[in-house]
Amino acid sequence: MEERDFFDEKQEQRTHTLTCPHCGQPGEYQLGWLVRRKKNSLPRHADERDRARFAKAQSYMVRRDDMVACQNVRCRKRFEVAGIQSVAFLQSA
Ligand SMILES: [Zn+2]
Repeated sequence: MEERDFFDEKQEQRTHTLTCPHCGQPGEYQLGWLVRRKKNSLPRHADERDRARFAKAQSYMVRRDDMVACQNVRCRKRFEVAGIQSVAFLQSA
């Protein structure tokens, strides 16, 4: 089985507060995440090895946006997303 068989995959938008390094203005930005939530159970054809891997698997999400455009109309420069991890584990199993 593939790793993706363990998860339900979904695109999500999340709001983060980011500060533009060019003008210093903080703002709220929508970032795209690919969220992989662990399934409640494995399909029937899973073998012992799959079960062991599944037991260790954890829900997580991967950030898809690396750059945003500053919301300050006098700036509008693009800057790199900083201070937000690119992979985050989720609390819910
Ligand atoms: Zn700016």
